[in-house]
Amino acid sequence: MVSKSRKVVRKAVAKKTVRKSKPTTRKAAPKQRKWVYLFEDVRAVEKYTGSWEGVRGLLGGKGSGLADMTRAGVPVPPGFTVTTEACNAFRKTGSFPAGMWKQELDALKVVEKKTGKKFGSAENPLLVSCRSGAKFSMPGMMNTILNIGMNDEVVQGMIRLTGNPRFVWDSYRRLIEMFGTTVFNLDDEVFERPMAGYKAGKGYKVDTDMTAEDWKALVSSFKEIFRKHVGFDFPQDVYKQLELATKAVFESWNAKRAQDYRRATNISDDLGTAVNIVTMVFGNMGFDSGTGVAFTRNPSTGEKKMMGEYLLNAQGEDVVAGIRNTEQIANLSKNMPGVYKQFMNITGKLERHYRDMQDVEFTIEHGKLWMLQTRNGKRTAKSTVKIAVDMANEKLITKEEAVLRVSPEAVDALLHPQFEERAMKDAEKAGSFFSKGVNASPGAAVGQIYFDADTAERMAKEHKQDVIMVRPFTKPDDVHGMIAAKGVLTSEGGATSHAAVVARQFGIPCVVGASNIEIDLEHRSMSVNGKAAKEGDWISVDGTTGQVFLGKIPTSAPSLEEQTELMTLLKWADEISARPNIRKAPKGWPTRGLQVWANADYPKDARRARSYGAMGIGLCRTEHMFFEPERLPIVQRMILAESSAERTAALNELLPSQRKDFDGLFEAMDGHPVIIRLIDPPLHEFMPDEEKLLEEVVTMRVKGETEGLAAKEKLLNHIRALHESNPMMGLRGVRLSITMPEIVEMQVRAIFEAAADCALRGIVVKPEVMIPLTGTVKELEWIQPRLTRIAAEVLAEKGVKKLSYKFGTMIEIPRAAVTAAEVATHAEFFSFGTNDLTQMTFGYSRDDAERNFLVTYVEQGILPKNPFQTLDRAGVGKLMKTAIADGRTTNPSLEVGICGEHGGDPESIEWCHLIGNNYVSCSPFRVPVARLAAAHVALKYNGKSIAEDK
Ligand code: ADP
Ligand code: MG
Ligand code: MG
Repeated sequence: MVSKSRKVVRKAVAKKTVRKSKPTTRKAAPKQRKWVYLFEDVRAVEKYTGSWEGVRGLLGGKGSGLADMTRAGVPVPPGFTVTTEACNAFRKTGSFPAGMWKQELDALKVVEKKTGKKFGSAENPLLVSCRSGAKFSMPGMMNTILNIGMNDEVVQGMIRLTGNPRFVWDSYRRLIEMFGTTVFNLDDEVFERPMAGYKAGKGYKVDTDMTAEDWKALVSSFKEIFRKHVGFDFPQDVYKQLELATKAVFESWNAKRAQDYRRATNISDDLGTAVNIVTMVFGNMGFDSGTGVAFTRNPSTGEKKMMGEYLLNAQGEDVVAGIRNTEQIANLSKNMPGVYKQFMNITGKLERHYRDMQDVEFTIEHGKLWMLQTRNGKRTAKSTVKIAVDMANEKLITKEEAVLRVSPEAVDALLHPQFEERAMKDAEKAGSFFSKGVNASPGAAVGQIYFDADTAERMAKEHKQDVIMVRPFTKPDDVHGMIAAKGVLTSEGGATSHAAVVARQFGIPCVVGASNIEIDLEHRSMSVNGKAAKEGDWISVDGTTGQVFLGKIPTSAPSLEEQTELMTLLKWADEISARPNIRKAPKGWPTRGLQVWANADYPKDARRARSYGAMGIGLCRTEHMFFEPERLPIVQRMILAESSAERTAALNELLPSQRKDFDGLFEAMDGHPVIIRLIDPPLHEFMPDEEKLLEEVVTMRVKGETEGLAAKEKLLNHIRALHESNPMMGLRGVRLSITMPEIVEMQVRAIFEAAADCALRGIVVKPEVMIPLTGTVKELEWIQPRLTRIAAEVLAEKGVKKLSYKFGTMIEIPRAAVTAAEVATHAEFFSFGTNDLTQMTFGYSRDDAERNFLVTYVEQGILPKNPFQTLDRAGVGKLMKTAIADGRTTNPSLEVGICGEHGGDPESIEWCHLIGNNYVSCSPFRVPVARLAAAHVALKYNGKSIAEDK
């Protein structure tokens, strides 16, 4: 209300002053909105909109490009643009806004003057095209009509002028056809079928066989077809043609395919399209004419070499339609050296002007070159990276721009094995396409199919086969099979299904929800419409596209080291992130951007993490080491021990192998921090399955077998004693360590013995011991001094004096986050376990939530996204934010990281930057993605304060 009345006041004041100074203007009509701009009026548009972005919004991509080229002196056929504002006004009311049509006619007069031709005149006719063009290019989605301005009389004039009746009749039939199909939405077939019939009747094979008489005859039948389907004659009034075409282009914004395209590419429905009226130029006027399309660099490889095709004696759409075999653009230098030179010159200029690879359309009319379109070209991930790096090296763009031009998803795509494009097409031709599902985890996988996790794992491990695990859906019990597999395929579930989430986490290509596949688990086979595959057969799964093929398709596995441009780009990204003061922050907080660390349990993962650029290990889970077949019996013995001495004896047996694990990690991470999490899961996870054991015991009792029965019964009782009704919230993590400290004492000893040994070998070791599942500082008060004492003891024993290490905790329980100030009095670092923190903050168990209701919640808009994939800023994120701020009040040098799956998700990474994390830690496969995402957010919030960004 307030602002409204203020506006009124301002208006009144404005009126008053006008009246005072110029009383005569009182009755003048209000100045009309400008709906139409000539190509040469671009400056006025810039003034009106205030920015180039605004110009693109008002004139659309095509219109602004044509205007910009005109300003730069590039030969563009004269024309004008009707604005997107006009389109939006039209879409509201269904009719042209006041004044628009008159402005269009006025602009046409200017074009007539420029070209010396007249619209609708038989003597010297002006023909125009009416072309759609939105702010963001939507290739082929909306309408374009060529050759507007032809009627029966104009045809005669054009024949006289050109002496080329064949060309004229061909152009006329194209106009009638395009008018019918695009303005009146007739099916292409309505024209194409009679045309094919005509050609067949004459024994013609291609369009070029058609003579002038043939096209003329076809024009007559096209006119009849038009009247029959539309209800009136093809309009002879050329202005009516222009009006209808303009409307049709406006309306094509709402065509279903255009809407679908916008939905898929996140383009807003409100933008509207502009209409470009462009003087027609003809590439089909003989062999001194032609038309073509070109990219200033290779859109698939990025190579700095013009790539394009052209056709002599042809019109625009012929090149794309593939009616005739096109010529490579380089050949134009032989056909028309002058034009070629001019073309290379212009496109070079355009690339420098837009500072990006251009996709251009051109036409040559009687040896004169005309540019019809320029836009930033679409390209593959590979090409995106190469072009960005090349252009930065050419000083066309800055390194920051290069980094910003590549999306984290593109990097992800580049690091997963991919099917060779050619091979994929061949497979499709050969009929080996099998099914298509949801592209859940990118990359290409080829392997033999197995229908359960145990067999999949066995075939992979024991028989060294490449395995594709196929299931209707997967469950947590199936993870071992998935990890052993090269790829995963399910017939049920969506992008947040268990299979999808696990596959992404481990970088396994995965297609889910391929719902037309019928899986017959009993007979170990699957089929789609009669096409079948049985266990052991080869299939190829493309997690990038969701396609599945029978048989083997060759893949190429990209290595990061071989992708020199990507390596360079990521190096630049790291440099950006490392800039001091790229984050403004309170004293003691990080002022550089985020570092990227990796989660790695084994030395080989650590080595991969390093080669992918990880600056530390954010999470090493030690319990995996307990599951190794030769260690598990010792672990079980340790658990079943009846005295502390017995337990310590078993643990002493485990110690050397633990030490060896850590030794390998420290060596791989020479100079970089390694966070090792002490034992976390409940003990029953290390024990045999209760039900199975019970079955064995019962069987023995029934059969009367006694040998070993007592031992089994004892074991069973033990396992029963370990039973908990909710193990996730039961005796595990630090709680377990407090009730049974011997395990973590052994682990800390192993860590520091390995660290000391490495240090003595000259390796720089930075161990960080992480205590999981802390809920109250009292837990740390109890356990931490015992552990630090051991660390100091070991170092003294080994005679190592200088070794920097930390003790810290995982923050995964809301209470720990809320009491962070207290927790940080003991913890030297926090690492947010955002998976558990999300579970406990929402009160969801992840497996149940993802299986039962998360999809519905996201569909119904109750949750914007799966909070296990993208951090929930308002809840979990806020807890993290306050925990960091509170923690740093009592411990200003507190190191903060995140080690959940979120650490590899760009949106979550952004949040971690804003709240003051030192690093994010993610799966080694995601490290390059995270490095780029970290640089992106650093640049986005360049120099801004952490506190400012809520
Ligand atoms: P799209 O946005 O789908 O690419 P365009 O508006 O660019 O559609 O036009 C389709 C084809 O018609 C292109 O090949 C283009 O070069 C050609 N074309 C458009 N306007 C003219 C014109 N005035 N003279 C000659 N060819 C034209
Ligand atoms: Mg085009
Ligand atoms: Mg946890």
